Amino acid sequence: MSPCAISIASMDTAIMNPDQTLPAGLSNVHKSLGIDAGYAGRCGMPYVPECSRLLSAGPDAFGRDALVDGKALAAWQRMQQAAERDGVVLQLVSAFRSVEYQKKLIARKLASGQQIDAILCVNAAPGFSEHHSGCALDLGSPDYPCLEESFENSPAFAWLKANAADYGFSMSFPRGNPYGVQYEPWHWCYRKKKTG
Ligand SMILES: [Zn+2]
Repeated sequence: MSPCAISIASMDTAIMNPDQTLPAGLSNVHKSLGIDAGYAGRCGMPYVPECSRLLSAGPDAFGRDALVDGKALAAWQRMQQAAERDGVVLQLVSAFRSVEYQKKLIARKLASGQQIDAILCVNAAPGFSEHHSGCALDLGSPDYPCLEESFENSPAFAWLKANAADYGFSMSFPRGNPYGVQYEPWHWCYRKKKTG
């Protein structure tokens, strides 16, 4: 795992320069998946180094040990407890994911016959997933299927829209987002606490 250079502030400002060169290891990963060198400039998303300040957030909705950036973990726990006080259950579905995980995920889809361009509409290329930062959380609610658009109809989603900003979380991929990423009402990223 690479040293974690990312800070909360840099997440806001680390917009990928099209000319920025990726770490050699990552370029090789992209080559092995058939992702062309123009991806970084085209997708408009910043390169996201893997976080090394990961702490356990306990089991996720699938019983896996969820790892979260230390600052994001404290904010998540405060947010989850506040929701609970309002009678809303927020479940953690997925948190940190490594570059290697993202590589295997895409390789599996390629092996099943999907085209790389179609896959990249749904999954960020390795190195470009906000989940590498440990600050992005996929959230769910007990009565709604995980990672489906219908989550937007849940009381949990309504609560998040009204309150998540108070805890430093925002939805990364609303409808019509500039990255061309599909709408993901479940994907919330800790950036910084709202001020003022
Ligand atoms: Zn996500």
